[in-house]
Amino acid sequence: MRKFVAGNWKMNGSLAANEALLAGLEAVPGVEVALCVPYPYLGQLQRRPVGLELGAQDVSEFDVGAYTGEVSAAMLAEFGCRYVIVGHSERRALFGDDDLSVARKAEAALSSGLVPIVCVGETLAERDAGQVHAVISRQLAAVGEVLGRERFGGVVVAYEPVWAIGTGRSATAAQAEEVHAAIRGWLVEQGVQADAVRIVYGGSVKPDNAAELFAMPNVDGGLIGGASLVADDFMAICRAA
Ligand code: 13P
Repeated sequence: MRKFVAGNWKMNGSLAANEALLAGLEAVPGVEVALCVPYPYLGQLQRRPVGLELGAQDVSEFDVGAYTGEVSAAMLAEFGCRYVIVGHSERRALFGDDDLSVARKAEAALSSGLVPIVCVGETLAERDAGQVHAVISRQLAAVGEVLGRERFGGVVVAYEPVWAIGTGRSATAAQAEEVHAAIRGWLVEQGVQADAVRIVYGGSVKPDNAAELFAMPNVDGGLIGGASLVADDFMAICRAA
């Protein structure tokens, strides 16, 4: 399976800073690379280095209508998005996204031909309490219930332990692999064609730990926050995939 590396710019950027960043990016042979950018920059990103896919960081669960502030999957598709992140832990923690709304967002994305990148992951307290698998299966099960096993095969799963995001404290390769293997196992149990589902890791991925993480058999790529804002770092991470 081709590795997949997506940059999650989060709420960063400016027209000028984006131009400078894009000037340092290029496609990497054998690796699928995507940029998940803030909505207002989707227009600017129509011009981007050849071979880089476009994505957004959230999407409405609704199709159209009186939903002030929402952005529909069809709108993202019109701008050439192929991917959209749903259920990022920042949205779950700060903006009220819950298991069911995340599942509905994934469904809305698929209905418009987008690939949802479904984020799951435990907090440090949950890890310390031995609840990693319980939390992740609960988060995945909600998506599975809405999508069914057939359509679940069309998503990317991102394992992002909350304690590793923006902290400089990545999961070790062994910790990531353990959870990724469990996610793959869970998918198999649900009857999803699990070998076709990409399971990517996110949380303090940097040029110096990317190769080790991506070498794990069940780590199919990465979701990169801070390091995706530095062209050389992001390129180094993509080349490590
Ligand atoms: P960092 O790479 O900055 O830790 O962020 C990870 C993340 O949240 C990607 O979605």
